[in-house]
Amino acid sequence: MKNEIQKISLIKRGMVTLSIACASLILLSTTPVEAKGPLTAEVKTAISQKSSLSEERINAVLKEAYEKFKNNQDGKNADYIKALAIVDSKIFGITLVTPDGKVYEIGDTKDVVSIQSISKVFTAAMVIQEKGDKFLQEKIGVNATGLAFNSIIAIELHGGSASNPFVNAGAIQSTSWVEAKDSKERWAKIYSNMDDFAGAKLSFNEEVYDSEVNDNKNNQAISKILDARGRMGSDPLEATTVYTKQCSVNVSAHDLGMMAATFANDGVNPATGKKVMDKKYVPKILAVMATAGLYDNAGDWLYLTGSPAKSGVGGGILAVVPGKLGIGVVAPPLDKFGNSVRGQLAAAYIINELGINPLAQ
Ligand code: GLU
Repeated sequence: MKNEIQKISLIKRGMVTLSIACASLILLSTTPVEAKGPLTAEVKTAISQKSSLSEERINAVLKEAYEKFKNNQDGKNADYIKALAIVDSKIFGITLVTPDGKVYEIGDTKDVVSIQSISKVFTAAMVIQEKGDKFLQEKIGVNATGLAFNSIIAIELHGGSASNPFVNAGAIQSTSWVEAKDSKERWAKIYSNMDDFAGAKLSFNEEVYDSEVNDNKNNQAISKILDARGRMGSDPLEATTVYTKQCSVNVSAHDLGMMAATFANDGVNPATGKKVMDKKYVPKILAVMATAGLYDNAGDWLYLTGSPAKSGVGGGILAVVPGKLGIGVVAPPLDKFGNSVRGQLAAAYIINELGINPLAQ
């Protein structure tokens, strides 16, 4: 609710700003109501530079990105989930994985944080795989909400729909639709699907889970509203618990790089060779990542990188350059949208310096 109230007061403030601007005829020179995330100034110079993807070049750009942003102290750890506030905010690891499985990494690439919202991508991938693309589009939705990721009014404003699988509402809904005889089996399937994307057995963060499961009434409320609107596939509170578990899985930059590379490699994990999802569904999930992967800052991110990406409030981010690269970064401090500050800066820098913006090919 706090987010809702902040949003409404921002909108009100924006309206006042607009009226004043119109009155003084300086509309075009006014500052936008919402300040930008960390991206604008930093990556500007890198755009449009071209270079090849040689090993030498990748290593050089990776090192540059690390050196350039390692001392950036902007942002702060999420604290609405208490266990996230005490994660070491200095962690900074970047991993790049090519579709043929070559790994380039620097920094704290083995340090783990909870995956949080990034898990939503993999559960949505399961739903599209099991139920088809029409189902994902019609039952859950594939549009941005324009509101905070945990917004309750977004559901009402969009006709009782979650709008997309990457806001909490759509993610809890996705979880509820994973085919299983009970919530135990549902959780086991979701967990092992994330393992398959990572090509590794991911650990579970009990501390984060305990912290969140005892404090997730907002998510429970969301699940109940969606249930009332006939949009849930299984018991809403059970689905919320499974969703909370999926958010509590640990990932490192290395894991995220590998998960991103599985998308970049048409749904086949480059390290294990396992086909994790059908190639035909990969562009659908990437499209939703492009639309809603970075919360309310997804437009700025896409504008600057052209790359589908997903972040989580644990401080992880993954970005996908189809056919070319999977990028995973872990750096816990977040901007006001909930995106890792150094994660965005490093990934955007790498994409632009390597000249691999997918929309510029
Ligand atoms: N578990 C978090 C929540 O439900 C995930 C949020 C996120 O990373 O966006 O609030």
